[in-house]
Amino acid sequence: MTSALMGNYGRPELEFDHGIGSYLYTPAGDRYLDFTMGIAVNCLGHCHPDLVRALNHQASKLWHTSNLYRIPQSEMLARKLANNSFADQVFFCNSGTEAVECGFKLIRRYHYDKGQSQRNRIIAMTESFHGRTIAAINASANPVHCEGFLAGDCGFDQAKFGDLESLKQVIGDNTAGIILEPIQGEGGIRVAEKEYLREVRRLCNEHDLVLMFDEVQCGMARSGSLYAYEQLGVEPDLLASAKGLGGGFPVGACLAKENFSQSMGPGTHGSTFGGNPLAMAVANEVFDLITAPAFTEHLNQQAIYIRAALHRLCEQYPRQIEGVTGIGLMIGLSCVINNGDLIDALQRNRLLAVKAGANTIRLLPPLNVSRDEVNSALDTLSDVLSKW
Ligand SMILES: *Cc1c(COP(=O)(O)O)cnc(C)c1O
Repeated sequence: MTSALMGNYGRPELEFDHGIGSYLYTPAGDRYLDFTMGIAVNCLGHCHPDLVRALNHQASKLWHTSNLYRIPQSEMLARKLANNSFADQVFFCNSGTEAVECGFKLIRRYHYDKGQSQRNRIIAMTESFHGRTIAAINASANPVHCEGFLAGDCGFDQAKFGDLESLKQVIGDNTAGIILEPIQGEGGIRVAEKEYLREVRRLCNEHDLVLMFDEVQCGMARSGSLYAYEQLGVEPDLLASAKGLGGGFPVGACLAKENFSQSMGPGTHGSTFGGNPLAMAVANEVFDLITAPAFTEHLNQQAIYIRAALHRLCEQYPRQIEGVTGIGLMIGLSCVINNGDLIDALQRNRLLAVKAGANTIRLLPPLNVSRDEVNSALDTLSDVLSKW
């Protein structure tokens, strides 16, 4: 019988019944070590007891009221995000692509408010990923994501990621802003160079362009700092956050400096579900856990350890894998063999990983992964590669 689900995800075979920490269990009870974590979402693993407690506590009190009324939990989380980042103000939504969308609107509205509504074009990078809304696919212009969905260019231009000359050529009189991922996720775990980012920032200052970072995937401590830009030395004007933000509960946020967020006056933008008490209760708990100093230290120790071990595997198996990319626990393993084949083999050995870019696999353990779990994943990898 045909499925009642649309076919956009293909038809995966594997299903899971429950999860504990770094592990997922099938209905038959088979255990998988999960280094996908819902694509960098479950930053504290599955069913972290503190998150379950926060969710249950809020669930028995109040789920949703809409933004017709004050939501103290959202004010609290916005304050925490602002106090720990470049930003002054925050807008909450329910997904990464909505956070990006809010940023796109802010970029245009900022120039509109200055009486420059003709400045409405936004530059995005090649191999970028910003989600699946009409605006987001126009931004990235990935032909696979765009086919059959376009009507004009929606006001987006593309520059080559990491290439300043390409960017300078695309900047024009009507350019309003730039969006980029400091570490490209779907594009293959590619870290932007500090020099490049510094120059992008300088160009934005020079031309009064709004700079938005999309940290939907690399943010929320995945890179080893709350946001990756901290380590790359350049602050944006706007930042899109989601994925790890809710630890598995859907929530997104657009962070902004005040001179940009002031363009979002009453009535300009909104979301029915955005910042609802349930999402905020969980996200506040996630934030407190992942920003504890001991947590970050543990995360970075695991990152150093697994990266060193992966480099050794690259030396040991040069015909199979050829490089380790990313920072922190946002790990890319560039393959010589086909990445999909490697992922399938790992899955048969009960280790879950996910594809990225042309021929990379992503290893995205929970940020509280233990040394034993890291060693177990490394053993599986080594075992699989040695038999290739
Ligand atoms: C996943 C992702 C998005 C889209 O997030 P959704 O929650 O799927 O809408 C946007 N940008 C980046 C960098 C992502 O990794």
